[in-house]
Amino acid sequence: MGSTNQLTALEAFLQGCPTIKYIPPSSPEYAAARKPWNGARLDNPLAVVQPQSPSDVAALVKHAKLNSLPFTIRSGGHNLEGRCVAQDALLIDMRALTGVTIASDRKSATVQGGILQDEVANKLWEHGLATPTGAIPTVGYVGWSTYGGYGPFSSHWGLGVDQILGATVVNPNGDIVKADEALLEGIRGAGGVFGVIIDLTIKVYPLTSLLAGPILFNPTDIVKTCVEFNAAYEKLLDSEGIPPQLTIQQICFNGPTGRAFGALFLWSGTDIEEGKRWSEKIAGLGPLLVNLVAPTTIPEWFAANGAIVPSNIAGSGFSHNARRITSPLAEAIGRNLVQMPSDRGAMLSIHQLRGPSAGPQNHASVFATREPHYMLELLGYVTSGDQEVSRQWAFSTAEEIKRADPEILLPTAYVSVYNSAIQAKSATEALDKTYGPKAAVLKDLKAKFDPEGVFSLTVPALK
Ligand SMILES: Cc1cc2nc3c(=O)[nH]c(=O)nc-3n(C[C@H](O)[C@H](O)[C@H](O)COP(=O)(O)OP(=O)(O)OC[C@H]3O[C@@H](n4cnc5c(N)ncnc54)[C@H](O)[C@@H]3O)c2cc1C
Repeated sequence: MGSTNQLTALEAFLQGCPTIKYIPPSSPEYAAARKPWNGARLDNPLAVVQPQSPSDVAALVKHAKLNSLPFTIRSGGHNLEGRCVAQDALLIDMRALTGVTIASDRKSATVQGGILQDEVANKLWEHGLATPTGAIPTVGYVGWSTYGGYGPFSSHWGLGVDQILGATVVNPNGDIVKADEALLEGIRGAGGVFGVIIDLTIKVYPLTSLLAGPILFNPTDIVKTCVEFNAAYEKLLDSEGIPPQLTIQQICFNGPTGRAFGALFLWSGTDIEEGKRWSEKIAGLGPLLVNLVAPTTIPEWFAANGAIVPSNIAGSGFSHNARRITSPLAEAIGRNLVQMPSDRGAMLSIHQLRGPSAGPQNHASVFATREPHYMLELLGYVTSGDQEVSRQWAFSTAEEIKRADPEILLPTAYVSVYNSAIQAKSATEALDKTYGPKAAVLKDLKAKFDPEGVFSLTVPALK
């Protein structure tokens, strides 16, 4: 069926589903509704639909299957390649589904499929609870957690993927089903490959205080600072260890006063005085410019982080997983930070995986990279001007990192940040790179739960 016929069939179907909000290409709302975080993705969907309930989602999937209509799912729109939108495919935008229900034992909560990270965390905070999230408020919670979910609570409570206890899904037949253990294994690591996630039931933890903020170092000699900080940090890990309540995320970004290099500090323990002592210790690992770590709240913390990352950008990201940040690796990173374009869209971020998710798990998942490591994000974006310059910077940094200390890199990369379009020659190569030994399990689960490939425009792509 051509796009005009598909649109006509969609409009006829929507007559019977008045609750689904319809945004066709002719609508003044279409341009904003189609736009993913990465503005480099120029694809125009057939139309955007915004279901208001699980049964709306089920009806849409039934219609799509019956009419062989390809579709994408979108929550926060923050896939780095903009893959929540595809040319001429229907875009199912889940953002109306944002409910949070806390279990009476206060050990779990059920969150709906279109909710953003700050919406989950702010609601839990009202109830003296928390769950792992990333730091950027506008990222979709389901998209973040089901593909891995690195963030500043992971040393304490684990990755997002390891919080998932249950899920409700609209399957390829358009039925609303509770995920069984086999389907949950796939959802934990490969998100929306098998169906639309209506809700996730996740672990939650008591949290009523928070100590967080950036520790910035003098950026004048960024190579030296990067090498010295990382050497001192590794030494601290090896000598006295770092408490699980503390997570450090290294960052380099272009702030209002120029290039900033440092560590985002987050302490999710109850002993705030102990957290303050740790902030001073981390601040002592490099030539300190300013230590802005202070008691805060989850809503304030999210609002402050949201101001760092621009919402209107274009470009490409690249990624590596490294066992350690060795001196040759830190030197290569530092040298490339000197060359980093000055646009606010260019950034480096390094997450560390240690703690409960770095090792075997009680719950099965297709998330593959379980040994302790650092996940390097090289973000080659611009807010204006030539995105190619920034993209090229991130790409050449990724290549130089590969040459600097090849033995220290892990064979796998993180699916949410790995640039499958540029770094892999085929979907199979990308799948092997991002799922390693779990790629075969993922393919078997896909054959079992979506044998006809109704969900074809997914992250990751299986073909
Ligand atoms: C600024 C920024 C900061 C980031 N920070 C981190 C970080 O700290 N840690 C980290 O691990 N990652 C991080 N990421 C990566 C991010 O977690 C992933 O790109 C994530 O998949 C984005 O989810 P989304 O809902 O916002 O994106 P979308 O583009 O809306 O969704 C991405 C894909 O997820 C699937 N999906 C989303 N919702 C559903 C659903 N309800 N049902 C079925 N499938 C669904 C779809 O396949 C969709 O194409 C960041 C990305 C950006 C741009």
